[in-house]
Amino acid sequence: MQKFREIISHYSSRTLPKAIRIVEMGPRDGLQSEKKILPSDIKVEFINRLSECGYKNIEVTSFVSPKWVPQMGDNLEVFQRIYKKPGVTYSALTPNVKGYESAKSVGVPEVAIFASASEGFSQKNINCSIEESIQRFRSIMHSAYIDKIRVRGYISCVFGCPYDGEISPEAVRSVALKLKEIGCYEISLGDTIGIGTPTKTKALIESVLYDLAPSEVAVHFHNTFDRALENIFTALEMGITTVDSSIASLGGCPYADGATGNVSTEDVAFLCQELGIETGLDINALCRTANWMSKISGIPNRSVYQIHE
Ligand SMILES: [Zn+2]
Repeated sequence: MQKFREIISHYSSRTLPKAIRIVEMGPRDGLQSEKKILPSDIKVEFINRLSECGYKNIEVTSFVSPKWVPQMGDNLEVFQRIYKKPGVTYSALTPNVKGYESAKSVGVPEVAIFASASEGFSQKNINCSIEESIQRFRSIMHSAYIDKIRVRGYISCVFGCPYDGEISPEAVRSVALKLKEIGCYEISLGDTIGIGTPTKTKALIESVLYDLAPSEVAVHFHNTFDRALENIFTALEMGITTVDSSIASLGGCPYADGATGNVSTEDVAFLCQELGIETGLDINALCRTANWMSKISGIPNRSVYQIHE
C-alpha cells in the first residue's frame, strides 16, 4: 500500500483527466500467458462476471492457431457462449486473415492487430520485419473496413526488448503512424517487458503525440519493476485517457523471459478512485471477481489492492 500512498501524494496536485476508459486484458493477454489452460466453462463465467463490473471494453480471446497458443484454442466457443451485455464491446486479437475470418464468423465487433517496435522481437515473435508485419495486416484492414469492424493496433516492446535492447521513441512513433495510416482507430503502446519509467513514458508519449491525438493512444504497461502505476499516471497527465490492464494482474509475456504480468485492473481503478478519476468500474465487484478467478483456477491473485472475503 506504500506504493499507492506515494503515487497519490505525487499525482494528486497534477492535472489529470476527469474520466478514463479501462480496457480489460485478463481473458486474453492475461490467460494466454498463464501456463494453466482453463476449461471453457470457467472462461465463460469469468467473462460474464467481468461484464457486471462496469467495463466498456473487454478483450475476450485471440483467434490464433492453437498450435501457437493452446490457451486460446476454444476461442470460437468462448466468444459464442459469453453473455454480451449491451454497452460493452467484446473484442479479440486477430494475428492473421484466418483469425480475422474466424472472429468475423462469430460476430466479433472489434479486433486487434499487433506490430513490434523492435526488429529483433518482430523477427523472433512472428518471423518477419516490422514493415512486413504491417503490410500483412493490410488485407485484414481492407476486410474490416468493408465489414464495419473496428481495429485496434498494439505496439509491443515500446521501450525495449530482450534482443535489441533499448528502443527509441522515434521508432515507436513511426510504427504508430503506420498503424494509424492503415486504419487503426486506436494504438495501444505496450511495455512488453515492463522496463518503462515515468521519464521514458513522457518522452514516448510526446513523440507519439506529434502524429496522433491523445484520444487515439492507449497505454499498456507491465509491472515487472513495479513502475507501471507511475507510468500510467504520467501518461494520464499528458492527456491519455485509455489504459489496458488485467484483473488479478493475470498474465505475463510468453516471449519475454521473466516479464511479470500486466498491471492490475483493481490497482489502477483504486488509484483512479483516490485521485477522483472516473473509471465506471465497481472496485468491489472487481475484487470479488479476482478472488473467484484465483480460487477456481489456482492462479494467484497478484493485485496489491484486494478485499478479503
Ligand atoms: Zn500485456
